[in-house]
Amino acid sequence: MHSKPIYYEEPYRQTLQAVVTSITEKGVVLDKTICYPEGGGQAGDRGTIAGKPLLDTTKDNEHTIYHHVEDPDFSVGDTVDISLDWDHRYHYMQMHTAQHVASGLLFRHFSIATVSVHQGERILTIETDQKEVPVSVCYALEDMVNQSVREAKPVTYEVHTQQSAQALDLRRSIKVNGDGVRLVVVTDIDTVACGGLHVANTKEIDFFHYEGQEMIRGHVRLIFTIGTIAREEIRKKERIVAQLSALFSSPMEDLVETATKAVTLASSEKSALKKCNERLAFLELEKRIIHAQKKESTPVVLWEVEDDLSLKDIGKAATAFENLALCAVQQNGEQVLWLIALVGEASTLFDFAKQRQNLLSTIAGKGGGKPPLYQGVGTGEGLILLKTFKDLLI
Ligand SMILES: [Zn+2]
Repeated sequence: MHSKPIYYEEPYRQTLQAVVTSITEKGVVLDKTICYPEGGGQAGDRGTIAGKPLLDTTKDNEHTIYHHVEDPDFSVGDTVDISLDWDHRYHYMQMHTAQHVASGLLFRHFSIATVSVHQGERILTIETDQKEVPVSVCYALEDMVNQSVREAKPVTYEVHTQQSAQALDLRRSIKVNGDGVRLVVVTDIDTVACGGLHVANTKEIDFFHYEGQEMIRGHVRLIFTIGTIAREEIRKKERIVAQLSALFSSPMEDLVETATKAVTLASSEKSALKKCNERLAFLELEKRIIHAQKKESTPVVLWEVEDDLSLKDIGKAATAFENLALCAVQQNGEQVLWLIALVGEASTLFDFAKQRQNLLSTIAGKGGGKPPLYQGVGTGEGLILLKTFKDLLI
């Protein structure tokens, strides 16, 4: 049995008594309801039924309306009190009506059609049929919708036969079959067939704000906020700008220029620091080579590297020398980073491929590379790897 949809006759009604006609896994069915089921881009209603939380309202293809009640403790035949989460419902009625006004004005003044719409918890989106929508059009639309709020246009309903509805040549195709087509008329602005819920007058939209746009399926999707949420969003952005102004010690008007300069400076300082680190690695390596033991004419450097140098920079520095056997480790807790460089004559003194297993097994090491650099990680004591390298080499 279908619930009688009281929400069309009385969209502002917030409470109702109804009789439970069935309770299944799909939800609770009532003989009548004020709860709007999800559909047409509008969310399902929430609230309470017999004091139990109503989490959502949906309908199936046969138009049966299911109330998703958490732990219902009532039975079929019981009379229950329905109470809507009115803030939630009313916000959707405002957004839905604003969408009709915006889509109608877009179509009439800018020949932009609406492909799809979505009403989220905080934002309303309208997918247009355009690849580009200039910001000037979006601001003009914002002004026009807010003008309709000030002009307080009534929102009314007409019921038509399929034939008389089709004859009106509406901007949006009629999605229902048969007669009894429900038309929503925003006076002087828009008429479409719609089964959703709307406010009774455009003044209730309160405030309409353009938030931005994005591309979806090759179309521009426009993003808006309504009423209280629009004001919250504007104030949030104002606070962020004020915080950034204070952070950069810059008036709002110069903020983009100041921030651009700061980002450019940070980037050039980062690359200068990188050069310094590379130079430092080279000088530290050079100092160790001067004091190193030699195997034949090849200096052998065993190096436990401090945190402030990177093995990557040391490896790069090693390749600048003509003849060098280097084993470097960097301890990071249990983890050991290792680097071996076999430059020039050193490659004939130590065959990495042959000795790899003997060497790396001491730290359960992994990794590899190609001449003259080899790198990886292991676990345990880095110093053991240095000693093993020395023993295998000399
Ligand atoms: Zn509608």
